[in-house]
Amino acid sequence: MTVAKNLMAGRIMEDQIFPYPNLRDKDREVLGMMVDAVDQFLGPKHQDFKRWDREGMQPAEFIQGLRDLGLFGLIIPEEYGGIGLSNAGYARVLSQSSTHDSSVSLTIGAHSSIGMKGILLFGTPDQKARYLPKLASGEMIAAFCLTESGAGSDAASVRTKAVKNADGDWILNGEKIWITNGGIADLYTVFARTSSPDGKITAFVVEAAWPGVSHGPHEDKMGIRASSTTTVSFVDVRVPAGNVLDTEGRGFKVAMAILNNGRTGLGGGAVGGMKALIALATQQAKTRKQFDTPIAEFGLVREKIAQMTIDCFAAESVVWMVAHYIDSGVEDYSVEAAMSKVFASEALQRSAYEALQIAAGSGFMREYPYEQITRDSRILTIFEGTNEVLRLYIALSGLKDVARSLGEMKAAVDDIFNNFIKGFGVLTGYAEKRLTQTTGVGRDKILTKLPPPLREAAEIYERYTNEFAKASEYLLRKHGKSIADRQHDLKRIADIGVDLFVGLCVLSRAASLGNAPGQEGVQAIGIARVFALQAKRRMANIVRRITRNEDHDMDQLAGFILNQGSYPWDVT
Ligand SMILES: Cc1cc2nc3c(=O)[nH]c(=O)nc-3n(C[C@H](O)[C@H](O)[C@H](O)COP(=O)(O)OP(=O)(O)OC[C@H]3O[C@@H](n4cnc5c(N)ncnc54)[C@H](O)[C@@H]3O)c2cc1C
Repeated sequence: MTVAKNLMAGRIMEDQIFPYPNLRDKDREVLGMMVDAVDQFLGPKHQDFKRWDREGMQPAEFIQGLRDLGLFGLIIPEEYGGIGLSNAGYARVLSQSSTHDSSVSLTIGAHSSIGMKGILLFGTPDQKARYLPKLASGEMIAAFCLTESGAGSDAASVRTKAVKNADGDWILNGEKIWITNGGIADLYTVFARTSSPDGKITAFVVEAAWPGVSHGPHEDKMGIRASSTTTVSFVDVRVPAGNVLDTEGRGFKVAMAILNNGRTGLGGGAVGGMKALIALATQQAKTRKQFDTPIAEFGLVREKIAQMTIDCFAAESVVWMVAHYIDSGVEDYSVEAAMSKVFASEALQRSAYEALQIAAGSGFMREYPYEQITRDSRILTIFEGTNEVLRLYIALSGLKDVARSLGEMKAAVDDIFNNFIKGFGVLTGYAEKRLTQTTGVGRDKILTKLPPPLREAAEIYERYTNEFAKASEYLLRKHGKSIADRQHDLKRIADIGVDLFVGLCVLSRAASLGNAPGQEGVQAIGIARVFALQAKRRMANIVRRITRNEDHDMDQLAGFILNQGSYPWDVT
């Protein structure tokens, strides 16, 4: 079981969280130059970014500049002409580009995080040799084509069809929507339902230049407007047998593996956005005077700046912890990656809201960058899995493993999660007796190596890890087979899990930074303490609401309003 899933079972895997990992030496050498180069190239272009946001495009010569900097080859191994950064190093570059402009990060990120990641993770030697050098140089830009008009969150319901010819090649037909880099890509990773009897999904590498491949016009979007988003259509496209990724029928697994592996790019981008907002808000607060006083002196403004800093530190801590798991070969990090995406994307949106509020009227004006960052950040809770669906995934994956740890119930538990309709009745009753024994509820303190200023925070996580296990047990026991449909409860489970995992990452990072000389070490410890206290309040509230809540009333109200179709009360 992984770190996050163990939390749900009442165990903190201390050695997987402490000490906080460092970047690889090799990454650090490259990053020094890369980060400077990114700043030098993007720094002078802020007016251009604003214009391209209005116009909804990135000019070809700008994309050429990204190629020249090597930004399309960040994670491609050196043997194929790439820079060979780790996930952690890659996330660091995306965080830097995001301090300048989100659309730029998206052009780079959609290429590396998801567009060509399938070839890196699953490509045959031949596919790698054919495509990676061109992808590294940016001669080919990549995009990831999963979503369709009828298949959004329910990605498994794609209808794009691939039929195998007698000669082993495939004929591809269908349309994908909202594809990032859709209009500029030369290579698409496409997910299609194959003609095998079970109709499973298969992943294909498709070149844009092949007959029958086309893309629609640039979508007119709310944010990340300069980033290319289009439909991509496939009409009788002949795909050679050698362009299947992994094996036939494994496409859904390939898609999920790519998305999981790519989440640190998105998280890194969110952190970069937060850093930019903190710099903007600090400058604004120090220079804007009201009541003859810089607004930075007012408690309510200071509170926002402190909270933005805590959110940024926490997001950074969890994103780079997950990147480290991926880089160090941990096999299953999907729940941790989902947690980092949920936290970082929402932290960025909170920060964008607060920074704009500090700038107030100026923040609302298009002359200032706040409104664009607010619009740009909105997408992060929507794509690469909506945060609602990721919360369900976090909770269900964790509960599945908790329940699975009860060996005798394995078959019934498999049934529950593979087929929600069957199976759970068997669990009820057994669970009552067995879960308490296996979850480790009531264990001794284990975070013993932390310095005294972090003990109180450590105790909070120890205590709520136990609460988490008890809550999971309680819900499994109470709801039996219907747990999968109890979305309010699943969200609660996910939210406790996110607070625990993010909080432990913060604790670990603060413990590492705590010995740093001067204020940075002291303040890092302070952040860990405040985050723990805030998390405790949130978790205590959620735990209370597991047994006392308004779920039923809320569902009834939603049912009434959905039935009415509109708000029915007017003042008369
Ligand atoms: C700018 C942009 C760029 C994109 N880039 C790409 C790309 O490069 N490649 C690609 O393949 N796709 C891309 N997408 C698609 C994106 O991944 C989807 O929009 C996303 O997966 C959500 O699907 P949907 O928009 O159809 O929402 P829906 O799935 O229709 O969801 C609507 C709402 O219902 C909720 N919901 C859905 N199912 C459940 C459930 N079971 N339980 C509870 N709540 C639920 C959702 O959380 C959401 O709030 C992009 C989208 C945008 C807007």
